Order: sequence, then structure tokens, then C-alpha cells
Amino acid sequence: MIVRCSKCEHEAVYLRRYTSERLCPSCLVHTSVDRVRRAINRRKMLREDDRIVVGVSGGKDSAVLLDIIHQIEQRYPQTEVIPVTIDEGIRGYRDQALEAAKALSRSLGLSLVLRSFEDVFGMSLDDMVDVRGDTGTLGACSYCGVFRRKALNLAARELEADVVATGHNMDDEAQTVIMNIMRGDGRRIGRTNRLRMQPIRGFVPRIKPLAVLSERDIVAYAHHTQLPYHDVPCPYATEAYRNDIRNFLNDMEHKRPGTLTAILRSGEAIAKAIASTSSESFYSTCSTCGDPSTTTMCKACQLLDKLEQG
Ligand code: SF4
Ligand code: ZN
Ligand code: ZN
Repeated sequence: MIVRCSKCEHEAVYLRRYTSERLCPSCLVHTSVDRVRRAINRRKMLREDDRIVVGVSGGKDSAVLLDIIHQIEQRYPQTEVIPVTIDEGIRGYRDQALEAAKALSRSLGLSLVLRSFEDVFGMSLDDMVDVRGDTGTLGACSYCGVFRRKALNLAARELEADVVATGHNMDDEAQTVIMNIMRGDGRRIGRTNRLRMQPIRGFVPRIKPLAVLSERDIVAYAHHTQLPYHDVPCPYATEAYRNDIRNFLNDMEHKRPGTLTAILRSGEAIAKAIASTSSESFYSTCSTCGDPSTTTMCKACQLLDKLEQG
């Protein structure tokens, strides 16, 4: 028996469980773009003359993000979309992902800007892992996350971007909210859910337009649009804690579709409550690099210090 699309007469190939929509390939793509467009409008993420840096890793999330932002921004000729890849320096992994990022940018008529850890911090992630010395208790992902955020912010500042878009999806964001709650770090939920209208001097505002699409949606979108992306796991990917939360949330989402979106709404409500009840500024200035920081020395400078000692 043919199952019809909830939006048109064609055959459905995909069930978006959290909305109960059965979708044909074309409606899967259109409704995904629409969901992102509505999220951008609801949270006032973009303006009509923005220069938008899109963080592109070569993976499926950022490939879908770039494709959707590019489509949405076609309507606004004054905007500029600049894909930026941060090459952490992971032998045999990032070089392949980079090829996918270049192919995607080329196919959309955009030129990819490349920055490497080597250029910005003087060493690759592989080198950092080799010399980490007494910081060996921290996994590679801890270095990678901190330095990638910093490198992307520096690139966006150099490019005089108004905003940086990253490809965090609904699953990533729900996991992060729960991880912060379980670590007793509610204030971080406030920091990671900041609205564009609450900028911090020194940080180019960050937006996460893909948080309204689940990882399943993104895999299906990339498949049906045949976007080039790199689908090999990073050799350092061993974030055991996040994996436990991911498995738990996947199980809950399967039993009760809509759990992830409910967690994200809670995250937004917590962030809003923090913003309205606290006039305290979370940020001061890093004593070493001058970037905004919640500690006297920012995390990147602390890690670089330790690496130099190592
Ligand atoms: Fe970086 Fe970890 Fe992601 Fe690999 S898995 S790219 S080390 S954050
Ligand atoms: Zn349809
Ligand atoms: Zn610093």
C-alpha cells in the first residue's frame, strides 16, 4: 500500500516523528527549509544585509545548513554568505572532509575560507594531543571544541561578519541542555542560548538555525538532495558522557516523540529567565588575549599555556 505525503499527492518516503508528518522527498526538503526560516524569524537571527559566516566542517549538518542558508538568503541580495572551514589538523580525517566542504561551496557558487589550528595557534590538533603533558586527562575533543570556537570567532572578526551560523542540530542541542543540567551548570544554558540581540563585545553573535531539525531530518535531507558530505567518524570521537545522554534521549524520543523539542523549549525558557532576572554580566576580558571570558584567563589561553609547559 502506498502511503501518501501529508502535504501533497506523492508517495511519502519519510516520517517526521515529532510532527507526525509523512513526507515525499520534495516536501521533506521544503518543510525543512520552512522550519529553519521560521526559526530564523522567530528568534530574529538574521537581518537583510548581514554578512553571514557559516561554519562548514564537511559533515552532513553543516552541509545542510549551508544549503538552506544559501536558499533562504537568495531572496535578500544585500546579504553575503561566507563558508568558513577550520582545519584542526587531524591526519586522514579533516583533509577528506575539507574536499567535501570545497565541493559543496563550489556547487553553490561560494568561495570557502580556510583557517587552520596550525596558522592560528602554531600547532595542529594532532600535535596538541602529542604534547598535552599534564593536561592528558582532557580528551582531544576538549581542545578541539575550545580552539575551534576561538578560531571561528577570529575568522569571523577578520571577515567583518555580522553573525556566525553553526550546524548544531536538535539532537546536539537537547543533549547539551541535559548535560549542563546534569553537571549543575544552569548558567551555561543561558550562555549557549543567547539571542542575537544580546551580543557580547568581542564575540561575533552565534546562531544555530538548524536546531529545529532532528539528526534524522538532516540525514534524510542530505540524502534526497545529494549534498556532498564526509561521513567518516573522527578518530578522536570518544565523548562517552555525551554518548550516554544521546542513547538515553534517542530512547526517550522514540517512546515519546517531541521529547527533544520539549527540552529545547525548556532550554530557551531557562535562558530567558536567566537573562531577565540577572543583570550580572557573565563576561570579563581574558588577561592574555583580550577576548571575552568568564574567567581571568580564557579557556583557550589556559590550554595553550599548559601545552607550552607540556
Ligand atoms: Fe574535534 Fe572531537 Fe569532533 Fe574530532 S570528534 S572533530 S576531536 S570535537
Ligand atoms: Zn509531498
Ligand atoms: Zn585568552
